[in-house]
Order: sequence, then structure tokens, then C-alpha cells
Amino acid sequence: IWRNTVTVVSLLTAAFTTYKFLQERQNEVPRKKDGIEELIGNTPMVKIRSLSEHLGGVEVYAKLELVNPAGSAKDRVALNIVQTAEKQGLLKRGEPGWVFEGTSGSTGISIAMICNALGYKAHISLPDDTSNEKLALLESLGAVVNMVKPASIVDPNQYVNASKSACEELNRKGVERGVFADQFENEANWKVHFQTTGPEVYKQMNGKIDAFIAGCGTGGTISGVSKYLKDVKGLKNCHVVLADPQGSGFYNRINFDVMYDSAEKEGTRRRHQVDTIVEGIGLNRLTQNFKIGESYIDESIRVSDSQAIKMAKYLSVNDGLFVGSSTAINAVAAIKLAERLPSGSKIVIVACDSGSRHLSKFWKEAKSVGNNITLQEILN
Ligand code: PMP
Repeated sequence: IWRNTVTVVSLLTAAFTTYKFLQERQNEVPRKKDGIEELIGNTPMVKIRSLSEHLGGVEVYAKLELVNPAGSAKDRVALNIVQTAEKQGLLKRGEPGWVFEGTSGSTGISIAMICNALGYKAHISLPDDTSNEKLALLESLGAVVNMVKPASIVDPNQYVNASKSACEELNRKGVERGVFADQFENEANWKVHFQTTGPEVYKQMNGKIDAFIAGCGTGGTISGVSKYLKDVKGLKNCHVVLADPQGSGFYNRINFDVMYDSAEKEGTRRRHQVDTIVEGIGLNRLTQNFKIGESYIDESIRVSDSQAIKMAKYLSVNDGLFVGSSTAINAVAAIKLAERLPSGSKIVIVACDSGSRHLSKFWKEAKSVGNNITLQEILN
């Protein structure tokens, strides 16, 4: 009887373990979706092993926004902007409608994809120094593309102003309806990061996030995520870092409370006059999406183009992480910050888009960096 009991118990235990294992596996497989827009968000978090191994016990993780269907964090923003416009009755499913945006690339690509999925049309104004692959993608997605000369925000032909005017022009004619997405000022931007990206980061890290690092283009990502972590989850000591490229005013704004040199006024200093090949981040004006999160940002770390270029190669060669320029900037900021953090600290960086968006500019330089580049050489 004793032997039989042991056998039955062992069999039951084995069956239960198998059942639990299969159930967990099943939960890991994403359920089928009803459309491309349902694939947005819930992006993975991955440890950057090569960095973590060299930072004295500090671990660095990347929130892989680049796996969103149109390839960047901007998918979340574009979807929320369109859905908000629908809720406001500005766009109606099944009726013709246009979404206008002025963008240096990623947001336009996300808007174009979502417009295709939901039955709208996209009109994208972008500066003509944007990388060729972003332009090719926009055209392939069927967006109407309006290329403009890079200009300061006070210039009516600047890409954001040009987009707004084009939208107003369409609405004036009154035949078809147009909505200006306005990612810099539209609060649907930071709100989607507050509602989705922030909670995902918190859950994936089991609430242990000692530092969060992002760049700032519109400010939506850093504002939404840091507001969620600090206000909702009470992570007041989570060190929020804005990684900033050359030519951007945020670094001075956060660290020294001045955005502009005394000789410069808002909008007159043009980032494109500084020869930077980093795209998507850095600005010389205060946007609504930045203002929402400014008080949650503890520090800004400046990263040079050359450091970002070397870091991109390092991550590709050592981790198989093929990233764009803003991700590389965040990773450089992470190794600069790690020197000051105690062992066991966990840093989360945003990996906004992939290197394939940056082949003709950023990666043209990065590919010739030696395979054996070290972290010390990156900082030199
Ligand atoms: N990285 C890339 C590649 C981007 O295109 C952007 C947005 N322009 C950012 C980072 C910054 O995101 P946010 O606009 O939320 O500040």
C-alpha cells in the first residue's frame, strides 16, 4: 500500500508539474490579434549583458521599443493621437480623413502605418536632411511627403509649421477633414507613455528601477514614464536622466536652469547648425510634452556623436543589439551614470528604434568602428 501511495503521489506531482509548465508556456504565447494596431506596446525588456558585465555590479536593461510594428516607440503615440481624434469626433472610421504631422521621421512612419490600418491618409512634412531610409519608408507606406528645408521654429516653413498650415489649408477647402497630430504639444503623447510604457517598465523590472534614461525629442517618453514611476509607484529615488546630444538645449536647462545662451533667444538657435548625425532627440525649445515631465528629471547627461557612434558598434558586436542613434546615446549615458551608482543598481534605458533606420547616416560612420572597441575607448 505504501509503495502504491508513493507511486500515485509521484505520478500526480509529475502530471501537475507538466500541467503548470504547459499552462505557463501557453500564457507566454501572445494571443491572436484582430489588427496591426493591437500589436503596439507590450515590448520586451532585455538585459544588456556586455554592459552589465563591466559596470561593477550595475545592470543595464533596454526597453525594446524598436519591436513595435512600425519600428519605434512612436507607434504608441501615433495610435493614441489618432484614437483621441476619433473620440473627439475629428476623425471617423469609414470616412475619408487625413492625419498631418511635422516630424523628423519616426512619428511619420508610425502615423502612416496606422492610417493605412485604420483607413485614413497621412501627410508628412519632414526636413530634407532626414535619413534616406525614413523617406523611402514613408513613400513606400503611401504617405504624402512634403520635404522642407531645415529651419528654426520661428520660420513658417519649418516642418512643424508647414504641416500645421497644410492641415489648415485642407480644412479651409472643406472637402476632406484633416487633423494635425502635433506630437510636440498634443498631450495624447505623454499620456500613452504614462498609461502603457511606464507600467510595462515597472512590471518588467519587478519595481526595482534605480535609474531611467531616455532622450528627449518631444519629451513624451521621459515625461510619461517618469511621472508614472514617481507619482503612481512612489519611486521618488529613481534617478531620471535625460540623455542629450550636441546642439540641444535640454542639458543646460536641466542642469543649470538656462536653455539658451545669453545671446540666443528661443527658437533662434538651430540644432541643424550644429553638425550632429543623431536623429530624433535634442531640441532648443520647451514643448508641452517636455514641460509635463521636467520636474521629474534629476539630471541631464551630454553625449557626443562620436561616443554614440562607438557605442552603437559596441552593442551590435557584443550583444547583437542593432540600434539607432538615440538608443546609443542612452547607453553611453548609462555607462557614465553607472560609475556613480552602487553595485546591484538597475538602470533602464529606452531603445527607441533600430539601426536599420539609420544606415545611410549614423551607421555609415558606426560600421567602420573596430570590432574590439572597449567601454573606455567609447568615453575617450
Ligand atoms: N529616439 C528616436 C529615434 C525618436 O525618433 C524620438 C522622438 N522623436 C525619441 C527618441 C524621443 O522620444 P520623445 O519624442 O518621446 O521625447
